[in-house]
Amino acid sequence: MISPTALKKLAAKHGTPLFVVDHSELRANYAMFKKYLPRVQAYYAVKANSDPAIVRTFYKAGASFDVASMPEFENVHENIKHLPAKARQDWIWDKIIYANPIKPIETLRELNQYKPLVTFDNFEEIKKIKKHAPQAGLVLRLKVANTGAMVELSSKFGASPGEAVDMILEADRQGLTVEGLSFHVGSQTTNFENYVQAINLSANIYQEARDRGYTKMNLLDIGGGFPAPYDASVKPFRELANVINRELDRLFPKGVQILAEPGRFFCATAATAVSKIVGKAVRDGKLCYYINDGVYHTFSGVIFDHCHYHLKAFKKGPTQICSVFGPTCDALDVVSMAENLPENLEIGDLLYSEQIGAYSHASSTYFNGFPPAVVIHVNE
Ligand SMILES: *Cc1c(COP(=O)(O)O)cnc(C)c1O
Repeated sequence: MISPTALKKLAAKHGTPLFVVDHSELRANYAMFKKYLPRVQAYYAVKANSDPAIVRTFYKAGASFDVASMPEFENVHENIKHLPAKARQDWIWDKIIYANPIKPIETLRELNQYKPLVTFDNFEEIKKIKKHAPQAGLVLRLKVANTGAMVELSSKFGASPGEAVDMILEADRQGLTVEGLSFHVGSQTTNFENYVQAINLSANIYQEARDRGYTKMNLLDIGGGFPAPYDASVKPFRELANVINRELDRLFPKGVQILAEPGRFFCATAATAVSKIVGKAVRDGKLCYYINDGVYHTFSGVIFDHCHYHLKAFKKGPTQICSVFGPTCDALDVVSMAENLPENLEIGDLLYSEQIGAYSHASSTYFNGFPPAVVIHVNE
């Protein structure tokens, strides 16, 4: 974690709003994941934070990548362009999964040359892939329970268990190869039972496919959802890993390749946002601070990610419960309605917010003419 003193120095040098990414924290998160889930190859979900410097750091650490659009694919592919064509081909499934079950035709046409690994979850998509990306390998995305996850990800995607094997057989009939199964238990999943159920469901689908004559599957992608330690209520990663390892070893032989797509867990703790107080008012008896970063910018997770971020002041003093508002004219631009902050903060004083690396800067806009925060990388 970057010290408050270092943050203040960076803000003095680069101005605010500032988004400071600590690459030693990125590497530590990757190492922890590998340590506790040694059987699992991590495909970093680029959508959580697509900064190319972050992609490079994970690439160097040995990670693979989950992409969901052509620009994300290009962002990752940049890092392998120097390899000879043959090496690139051997490498591509080991390094990239295109994990968006719905792909535009233009994207499939573009992807085909790379012989990519792609997910699907419906019959229409099989036809599209057959026609426009016949060289692709397929992974069937299953619909699984997202109970208790902070962000629900199963209402839009996933084949139901009843139709899964029919889809596998249809893809096979069309001459495509289904390499395995994938699922997503919901982002920031603190209910470990979701993983248990999803891995067991996958094992059942594997068995049903075998019983009906399809034996080519050799891959299981356990998706994302691994919770970041935002507060003390999140149990240690080790405990979740133990549960996952137990189920994997019980249900999937050693030869089956296991993938995961962690996004939040890899980058949430690695960034801190520094903002400046630009206004101060008392409204209905409540102290309100206006800062130069908000929900259209680094705090976008307040809206899209259902995530609550805490603000801290560098200055000490008697505190009270305050509101913190973003800089735009929209009344939606509320960072927090209840932050315990010193009441003596002045215009120009700085606030900071930790563990804001995931789903934050990634969906920042230029709304109202305010540009996204400047990004600074440390310990790169
Ligand atoms: C968003 C997403 C992820 C990453 O999820 P996290 O909860 O951030 O780990 C992984 N896979 C897919 C298919 C996703 O849509």
